[in-house]
Amino acid sequence: MVYVASDERYEIMRYNRSGRSGLKLPAISLGLWHNFGGIDAYENGREMITRSFDLGITHFDLANNYGPPAGSAEDLFGKVLARDLSAYRDEMVISTKAGYYMWPGPYGDWGSRKYMLSSLDQSLKRLGLDYVDIFYSHRPDPHTPLEETMGALDHAVRTGKALYVGISNYTAEQTLEAIRILNGLGTPLLIHQPRYSMLDRWIEGGLQQVLEENGVGSIAFTPLAQGLLTNKYMNGIPEDSRAAGPSTALSESRITPEVQRKIRALNQLAVSRGQSLAQLALQWTLRGGKVTSALIGASRVTQIEENIAALSHSEFSQEELDRIETILKT
Ligand code: NDP
Repeated sequence: MVYVASDERYEIMRYNRSGRSGLKLPAISLGLWHNFGGIDAYENGREMITRSFDLGITHFDLANNYGPPAGSAEDLFGKVLARDLSAYRDEMVISTKAGYYMWPGPYGDWGSRKYMLSSLDQSLKRLGLDYVDIFYSHRPDPHTPLEETMGALDHAVRTGKALYVGISNYTAEQTLEAIRILNGLGTPLLIHQPRYSMLDRWIEGGLQQVLEENGVGSIAFTPLAQGLLTNKYMNGIPEDSRAAGPSTALSESRITPEVQRKIRALNQLAVSRGQSLAQLALQWTLRGGKVTSALIGASRVTQIEENIAALSHSEFSQEELDRIETILKT
C-alpha cells in the first residue's frame, strides 16, 4: 500500500527549539538503535517509522553502527524513506553518528577525520540521502585532538553533507571545549545527546548547566532506561523484552529487587495520575524545559502511541516531583 501521511500529524506533538538555534525538534523523537536491524522484521520497522511520522515525530535518530548487523538500521530507514517518505524529506530531521567500531583496521573507529568523514559517506549511501540534518561525534576519542574531530564535523557541514553538528557521550568539560572549538570554526554546536532518565541523572551534575549557558540543545537517550521505566519488568522478565533478547545492552542483572521496588512505587504514582509509568518517565525527562527532546526506542507501534500520549497529561505538581525524588532516593 502507498503510504500517505496523516493530515493530523502536527496536532498532538510539541516542538522545542534546540538551544538558541533555529531548529525545532519534537518533544519525543524516535531512535533506531534496536528493532530496526537486518535481524528484525522490515514491515514492523516500517510501520513504526510511518506511524511515528503520523504522530508528529519529525526526528529520527540513527548511527552508522545501528543494526545488527552494523549499518542495517540505516539500510532499513533508507528503504522506508525511498518507498514511503521521500515526499516528506523536508519535514524530517534525520541524524547519524560515527564514533564506535564500524570496520576493521585503524580507520574504522573513534574520532579521526579519516574515520568520521568516510563513515558519513557510507551512512549517506545506506540512507540514500545527499545530506543528514545532524551529524554527531558519537563519543569522545581520548587519542585524537578534539580540534580534529570537531574539524571533521565542521567539514561535513561545509561540504553540504550535514546541516548541523552534535556530540554524544561527552563530559561537561569536553563539551565546553567542543563548543569553544566549533564556535571558532563558525559551526556552532546544535545539540548534545546524553544518557538521561530517572535512573541515571549524571547530566544534572554540570553538563546541563554548560548546555544551558551556551545555548546548546539536548536530546536525552534511553529516557525509559531501555524499558526499565515501563510496566514490563515490574514482576519479572517477559520473553519478548529487550532484556530477554539477543542484545547485550540491557542485562538481566540490572533488574535488581531494588530497581523493581522503585519501579513499582513510581508505577503507583503514575496510576494515581491516570497514566502509565512510561508516560510518567517521559514527562519527567522533559520537565522544566531543560531537555529539548526525549529520544525513545520502541519494539512495536503501540508503545510509540502510548509514549506520545504522555504529552497530553497534566504537568507535575511540586508534591509529585518531591514524591518522585523520595522514591528515587530509597
Ligand atoms: P528507551 O529507554 O526509550 O527504551 C526503549 C525500549 O523500551 C523499547 O525498545 C521497548 O523495549 C521499551 N518500551 C518503550 N516504550 C514502551 C512502553 N510504552 N511500554 C513498555 N515498554 C516500552 O530507549 P532506547 O534504549 O531504545 O534508546 C533510544 C534511542 O536513543 C536509540 O534508538 C538511539 O537512537 C539513542 N541512543 C543513543 C546512544 C548514544 O550513545 N548516543 C546510546 C543508546 C541509545 P522492548 O524491546 O523490551 O519492548
